[in-house]
Amino acid sequence: MDTAEKRSILIIYTGGTIGMITEPLTRSLVPVDFKEISGQLPELLKFDLNLATYTFDPPVDSSNITPAFWIELAKVIEKEYLNHDGFVVLHGTDTMCYTASALSFMLENLNKPVVFTGSQLPIGVLRTDGKENLITAIEIAAERMHGQAMVPEVCIFFQNKLYRGNRTSKHNAEYFNAFVSENYPPLAEAGISIHYNYGAIHYPVNEKPLKVHTTLNDQVAILKLFPGIRQEFVHAILTLPWIKAVVLETFGAGNASTSESFIGEIRSACQSGLIILNVTQCPAGMVNPGKYETSRLLHETGVINGRDLTTEAAITKLMFLLGQTSDLVTVRERLNQSVSGEITI
Ligand code: ASP
Repeated sequence: MDTAEKRSILIIYTGGTIGMITEPLTRSLVPVDFKEISGQLPELLKFDLNLATYTFDPPVDSSNITPAFWIELAKVIEKEYLNHDGFVVLHGTDTMCYTASALSFMLENLNKPVVFTGSQLPIGVLRTDGKENLITAIEIAAERMHGQAMVPEVCIFFQNKLYRGNRTSKHNAEYFNAFVSENYPPLAEAGISIHYNYGAIHYPVNEKPLKVHTTLNDQVAILKLFPGIRQEFVHAILTLPWIKAVVLETFGAGNASTSESFIGEIRSACQSGLIILNVTQCPAGMVNPGKYETSRLLHETGVINGRDLTTEAAITKLMFLLGQTSDLVTVRERLNQSVSGEITI
């Protein structure tokens, strides 16, 4: 194949275990430059693709990632969008689901793959999962069908599954299957060949130019309920002077205490204009308002039904929507709609 016809993939290295080495003094893992990774992976030369790389300087452990970083990443993709057929983002697993969720909202009209991956063991370690993950992520990012990208979504490939990014959560800090997507099927599964789940992949009906949103609002919080949670604590969170929206992680199908000390706090917060988005603490299933008395009362206060949103998608969706508008009616409306396939309506 002529070089000019080769598909081009941009590998964006942000850091994470995949590119870490053990720091001799502390014996802790620290991220290093991508050149070290490509040196560890001569297999990359076998691809009949143009592989370009972009490295964040400095690469970071993903626990250090912030919304400012998501904006920088979105801008890199925007700048390089027309130069490449797909993007592979190497990222630490700890906060990968937050970054993938945020990017899924920020990259409107995406029609090229943005495949996140990483690993549980550094690429220089003999039993690394990083090689398989990176090689298959590149294949997926380059795959096409009828001249279009096979998976024009922000997604996460890990171990052998490709998931919609804003449907995933990290569930395993030990084994190679680090992620789950309990409420949405995998977009693809990799065995001897890669099987795409066409029915689950979102294909744009009318292709429009990419529109990148780079304003996020971090006046948000997550409040996870537990039996015995103190009223003063709930009150303190809901009345923070800067707070605009809270993700409320409730029990089971969206349930919470019916005690007036708790419900009263939620009611007055809603009345004062705070947006409270109800998501379940369960990894699978969804909020079902009114199924139990314990959710009926909560929703009568004005709490919004987060349905089957993951916490990661919920908090980043709030940051995104509050970054787009200060009109809380619009924010509430859009919370009840799918922005990029993050919620089952
Ligand atoms: N702490 C690492 C990170 O998220 C973990 C990993 O990459 O698996 O950057």
